[in-house]
Amino acid sequence: MADRACGDCGLCCKLMGVEAIDKRPHSWCPHFRKAQGCAIYTDRPKACADFSCYWLQAEGLDDRWRPDRARFVLHREHGGQTLIVEVDPASPQAWRQEPFHSTFRAWAAQGAPKGLSLNVLVGRRAFEILPDRDVDLGEVREMPA
Ligand code: SF4
Ligand code: SF4
Repeated sequence: MADRACGDCGLCCKLMGVEAIDKRPHSWCPHFRKAQGCAIYTDRPKACADFSCYWLQAEGLDDRWRPDRARFVLHREHGGQTLIVEVDPASPQAWRQEPFHSTFRAWAAQGAPKGLSLNVLVGRRAFEILPDRDVDLGEVREMPA
């Protein structure tokens, strides 16, 4: 387990939806304070308290991968079988930059034999990253207006 802290990142407080407080994805949570973090930290919803992005956990990902710098949040879904790259729609090409993209391809190659998949979400649109290509899955998500 990597020994990292969120610092003043906070990008999950923009990109992730939080049903308990009716917070929509892709817009800043009204409780988020830049450089201070969550204004309701001790009373924040369980979903927030439980969330830990993959950058916090993974070995070998340096500070370029910190979500507010990389402009995407990595997290696991489907019981850990899918790694999601949730991209900030304000920086829709962030996942195609290096060192990220070639690393995603390498992860796809390592994960494929174990049945793991790697999906990129940019607003409504999704891509699957395979070892040798990216597949545009089209607009797969309903986003709240
Ligand atoms: S995206 Fe990750 S590093 Fe950034 S605040 Fe959320 S959990 Fe912490
Ligand atoms: S309640 Fe706090 S931790 Fe949860 S999204 Fe809002 S600012 Fe972030």
